[in-house]
Amino acid sequence: MKQNLFELIKTLPKAELHIHLEGAISSAVIQKLAQKYSHLEFARELEKLQNLATFKDFKDFRSYYRLCMQLLRSADDFALVTYEYGRDMIVQNILYSEVYISIYQHIHLFNKSLSFSDILDGLERGRQKAAKDFGIEIQWIFGIPRSRHFSGNSPKVFDPTIAATVLEYALQGQEYGVIGIGLGGNEVNAPPHPFKDIFQKARKMGLRSIPHAGETSGANSIWGAINELEADRICHGVRAIEDKKLLKELIDRQIPLDICPTSNLMLNLYPSIKEHPFFELDKSGVLITINSDDPSLFGSSLCDEYAVIARAFNYEINDLLRFAKNSFNASCLAIEAKENYLYEVEKWEKVNLSVL
Ligand SMILES: [Zn+2]
Repeated sequence: MKQNLFELIKTLPKAELHIHLEGAISSAVIQKLAQKYSHLEFARELEKLQNLATFKDFKDFRSYYRLCMQLLRSADDFALVTYEYGRDMIVQNILYSEVYISIYQHIHLFNKSLSFSDILDGLERGRQKAAKDFGIEIQWIFGIPRSRHFSGNSPKVFDPTIAATVLEYALQGQEYGVIGIGLGGNEVNAPPHPFKDIFQKARKMGLRSIPHAGETSGANSIWGAINELEADRICHGVRAIEDKKLLKELIDRQIPLDICPTSNLMLNLYPSIKEHPFFELDKSGVLITINSDDPSLFGSSLCDEYAVIARAFNYEINDLLRFAKNSFNASCLAIEAKENYLYEVEKWEKVNLSVL
């Protein structure tokens, strides 16, 4: 990689569209919260979080993720991690971010005695203070934990109660930056189509549909996400590469894929970055964005992800500039806001690329 490419990546104005708040807590903040809650049972396991070399599989990864979820136990904790994420954004020149939160689990699991209004209060305080101090903008996607809706053997029984609760929270949060609902967790045995009614209602109420698909399951899961859930974007979606018809559909309908290369490697979707379909997806004409998913769990950052991609596929700064533009174009921002951010990218381009 050219010497100055990483420096350029750092200053390039960009958006991040696929990142989980719980997986973006810096190690300094993890330590601070671990100390605060050192009297609680789960804190003993937190040492695990200092040793994040590899995950055996998706299930193993989820156990780390659950630990991070347990760390957030008060409105102030949510305000702190949101604010600190805002600080991290500006260090990387991420001007705008759509952040996924596993809202249901925080309220209904782990016996935290947290109410929805506690969390919303914390998120909003952190978001406003970060906007004021760092000049960045954060909006939220509330996630539905997909596998909790299915029970029994085959046929599996579907119960929509949790999804309906998440939708209710998202609607209440619309005034406080909640822009969409997502679908997360293991896709195996938890297909998208039973969630159709919930996503339809959400869309009618002005929320966007941003499900995970095509990560732990193949192209069928993506077909379900775009046809049944009318996805505005797909989190991951990398396995679309396995289905040419699906690729054409994504291109024709201009449905973006929010790709997280390091996450895909860490969770063993691909043995190496060279075998990752990023380049093929880009070449095919699908609108793709680069993201970090759970940067603190993967020991990565958004700038690292740009660098990994550049190094693996010999992308030049002009390509990375294109991906930065994609990140704003694929966002849920209104057109005027998109144009304002894209203007920042163009200004950067004039200053930095005319002298290269
Ligand atoms: Zn994700």
